[in-house]
Amino acid sequence: MPSLVGFIGIGNMGACMARNLLAAGYRVIVCDRSPKAVAALQQAGALQAETPAQLASTPGLKALVTMLPSSAAVRETYLGPTGIFSLPPRTLRPSLLIDSSTIDPLTSRDLAAAAARTTLHPDVVEGAAGAPSTAPAMLDAPVSGGVGGAAAGTLTFMVGGPAEAVARAQGLLGTMGRATVHCGEAGAGQAAKLCNNLVLGVSMAGVAEGLALGQRLGLDARNLTKIFNGSSARCWSADTYNPVPGVMEGVPASREYTGGFAAALMSKDLGLAQEAAAQCRAALPMTAAAAELYRQLATEAGPAIDFSGVYQHVYGGQAVAANS
Ligand code: NAD
Repeated sequence: MPSLVGFIGIGNMGACMARNLLAAGYRVIVCDRSPKAVAALQQAGALQAETPAQLASTPGLKALVTMLPSSAAVRETYLGPTGIFSLPPRTLRPSLLIDSSTIDPLTSRDLAAAAARTTLHPDVVEGAAGAPSTAPAMLDAPVSGGVGGAAAGTLTFMVGGPAEAVARAQGLLGTMGRATVHCGEAGAGQAAKLCNNLVLGVSMAGVAEGLALGQRLGLDARNLTKIFNGSSARCWSADTYNPVPGVMEGVPASREYTGGFAAALMSKDLGLAQEAAAQCRAALPMTAAAAELYRQLATEAGPAIDFSGVYQHVYGGQAVAANS
């Protein structure tokens, strides 16, 4: 019988990740507050649970992945009244809990501590290979690679938690991604992710600023992109996720900045980086400037707009002509 895996949060990212698990032969049981998101995954063959607690008590459930928008949603899902840790002692089934949301490292540490205080169902403990643990292992495993990487199964997982659990998670993570980097103890994956997204937020703003200036100086954005990608300005924001409509196929810029990484989520991540920096007294002047741009974008164009929309809505850049 194929392994049964739970998945909570099947939005832009989570739906693609859960579909890859289904395609690899896992049985998947999902939970999301959006009935539309659940219906789409049910059509693809997933089962459904009403609440995180109900999902986490499903007999045979081996592991549970969460992919939620914020620290508050993650806290509610694990620690809330119908959350995973609200179950009575010795009723939780999955021995591996993997949170792939991008959240603050402190929440990840709190969840790891809460997991350590929880007890698994006796069937799980007795059935476990090696020395049985009575508590589930908790990993923070945020990702990089965007919706394209989630769909293609090429995400990079930055993981915090015990090495033994990282090894156990490898089959699942390897199905949804291409690389797993163990960063240290609980919260270390989130710390790495915040640093990565800080660079992404700043570099996207830089690429958008350069391309918008080029356009005003009479340069063709396709040509300028070619120059960037063959020289020192090359980066993911230029060569994989270009912000100019019409330069690349299959990116949010070419579908009216939808179906990607929301400006609101980028604002959230830069805010998390700023909070972390305040705690360790690191200076983040570039992050502060970029955070302001994405806040402006989300306010003017709506929180769901893709973060690369900064090119059009903040810098006033135009699409390239179809025949140029
Ligand atoms: P999304 O908003 O598309 O999806 C979030 C899903 O969670 C939605 O389906 C929503 O209904 C559900 N949800 C919210 N609160 C819930 C709750 N309390 N219980 C159950 N379901 C709940 O977001 P996304 O783009 O898929 O991003 C998810 C996470 O991945 C975020 O933390 C984001 O920062 C991170 N991330 C996103 C990208 C990207 O390119 N979109 C890239 C890397 C990391």
